[in-house]
Amino acid sequence: AGRPYIVGNWKMNGTRAMLSEARAIDRAAQRHMKVEVALAPPYTLIHAVHREVEQIGVGAQDCHPGIDGAFTGDISATMLADAGAKFVIVGHSERRVGHGESNDLVREKAQAALDAGMRVIMCCGEDAPTRDAGKAIQFVTGQLKASLPEMADAGERLTVAYEPIWAIGTGNNATTDDISEMHREIRKLLVSLYGEEQGSAVRILYGGSVKPDNAKAILAADEVNGALVGGASLTADSFMGIALAA
Ligand code: 13P
Repeated sequence: AGRPYIVGNWKMNGTRAMLSEARAIDRAAQRHMKVEVALAPPYTLIHAVHREVEQIGVGAQDCHPGIDGAFTGDISATMLADAGAKFVIVGHSERRVGHGESNDLVREKAQAALDAGMRVIMCCGEDAPTRDAGKAIQFVTGQLKASLPEMADAGERLTVAYEPIWAIGTGNNATTDDISEMHREIRKLLVSLYGEEQGSAVRILYGGSVKPDNAKAILAADEVNGALVGGASLTADSFMGIALAA
């Protein structure tokens, strides 16, 4: 499914003082072209990062499903593309849980990003009680089925990120066996939705406490095509430590 894809999600972190980290990440990425590196800074930095970098992809962490209108405080996919964004992360658990976003809303956001000419990183993942109840696969595949938009060109433009909620920001990453088991189920679903060729070309990332010291094992696991990195993407040193492990 193409080059390994290492994406940094800065979440609600970063002021212009952090542009130097983005530049350092970009310089390092230019020396390691076998890995595709991308950053999703907060909205306020998208255009600035876009102007500072040459190699890495710049994207957004969310978007509104509409094109424009009276939506105080919201940002449309068209605006993000205009600011230099090439992709949008949708369906992150910090949106689904923290902001009550439904599968339907997430699907509409994904469609808006595609309509604006961008790529989509679709997040999914179960909480701890769901995993403990043995229902993680059922939950995640159901969530994805309800959140993924119809696409004729999924392979190139869609990425799925599996991020178990209990692994985000906790230091408790999932085991490589559990990650691969989930990714194989996600792959089956993608092939059933988009066909063999397109479904096989979608990259499936793991996210949740990926650090330089566990990245090699996680990125080598079956059906893992990259990582979506939160905390460890905030410095060039730790983020590129992960990218170099791919
Ligand atoms: P951490 O890498 O900080 O656990 O965050 C993962 C994540 O949510 C990336 O989107």
